[in-house]
Amino acid sequence: MTTPSFHTEALRVIDTAETHLANNYNPLEVVVSRGEGSWVTDIEGKRYLDLLSAYSALNFGHGHPAILAVAQEQLNRLTLTSRAFHNDKLGIFAQALAALCGKDLVLPMNTGAEAVESGIKVARAWGYRVKGIPADAATVVVAHGNFHGRTTTIVGFSDDASARDDFGPFAPGFVQVPFADAAAIEAAIDDNTAAVLIEPIQGEAGVIIPPEGYLRAVREICTRRGVLMIADEIQAGLGRVGTTFACDREQVVPDMYLLGKALGGGIVPLSAVVANRDVLGVIQPGQHGSTFGGNPLAAAVGLRVVEMLESGEFQTRAAALGEHLETGLNALIGQGVTDVRVAGLWAGIDIDPALGTGREIAEKMLARGVLVKDTHGQTIRIAPPLVIRATEIDWAIEQLRVVLAG
Ligand SMILES: *Cc1c(COP(=O)(O)O)cnc(C)c1O
Repeated sequence: MTTPSFHTEALRVIDTAETHLANNYNPLEVVVSRGEGSWVTDIEGKRYLDLLSAYSALNFGHGHPAILAVAQEQLNRLTLTSRAFHNDKLGIFAQALAALCGKDLVLPMNTGAEAVESGIKVARAWGYRVKGIPADAATVVVAHGNFHGRTTTIVGFSDDASARDDFGPFAPGFVQVPFADAAAIEAAIDDNTAAVLIEPIQGEAGVIIPPEGYLRAVREICTRRGVLMIADEIQAGLGRVGTTFACDREQVVPDMYLLGKALGGGIVPLSAVVANRDVLGVIQPGQHGSTFGGNPLAAAVGLRVVEMLESGEFQTRAAALGEHLETGLNALIGQGVTDVRVAGLWAGIDIDPALGTGREIAEKMLARGVLVKDTHGQTIRIAPPLVIRATEIDWAIEQLRVVLAG
């Protein structure tokens, strides 16, 4: 199937990468050189359906024309000013994003981990300045199995050994409780608790969907106990699950949204903390910042992304196609699949260990022209671009059926 010329060229590219890159990833053996919509093309010209979408950073697919157009226009006008000066894109982006979230204020950053770090800083400052927690005593309640990024503070409250081991000492002030257990959150809260930080659906953990009522219970507890509810919607938000935010599934509005990934339209790193003035208003000049945060290129792209979400078109698509996906995947239960969890166009598929690891299944899917990613050993996580077609979903599921049938 692969020609000798592909092997020569692809292996050379992979060898160069492996020789010069830090070894912090273990990519599948494919060298992608182009992308359009839901499809990418490797350097030999072979096409693959991209069911990972860069972990939801490509919710609108590769090279969405509306996003590309605004990025290209902005590239030619102005790309960076730093926040030392105003630029003509940042204010309107913040206005639109705040409105999408139903909040007052936006703090723009770049990566998801930075949004999480920023959210923790804001929550602690709110804890001291508004709630009256004694200096340096503020705590944040987090969930087991969480994934919030890779900085030293964040990995310090992860329970994934490979993310943590040998990277300590870690910042204190975090309390872990089981995920999807509202009573455990209630029990962990005391006078020094500033915030509860959760993913409304745990993505990296394998698309773990809490039982209905959990988010509402967390909201109620946080309100009653005077604690901020922070929703890390970096992967779950912005249309992925069939609603604008995963919290919308239970009509819950957190005190703080953490956004990233798809916010940058698959073009630029763009993240944000979004909250009301009584929370985010605690940050004053000099207390937080970022050289690239709020740059006009990212703001122009982010504004277009928000405009695309305002119509509700992508959310509706994700909801409808998600049902289609769920039906197709459920039919594989007992045929090599042991469990499936689906929320919109997002799925965790547990593979029967007798048929191989998640990684081995991902390699076989690659050979059949479908890009997926394993997580936690036996799980395949898929997050197709929201522009994918129903027939493409059917084709991908058929490839999985064939792979599992051996
Ligand atoms: C990806 C992710 C992050 C971190 O984002 P980066 O841009 O990789 O730093 C944080 N939280 C969640 C839920 C994520 O999925």
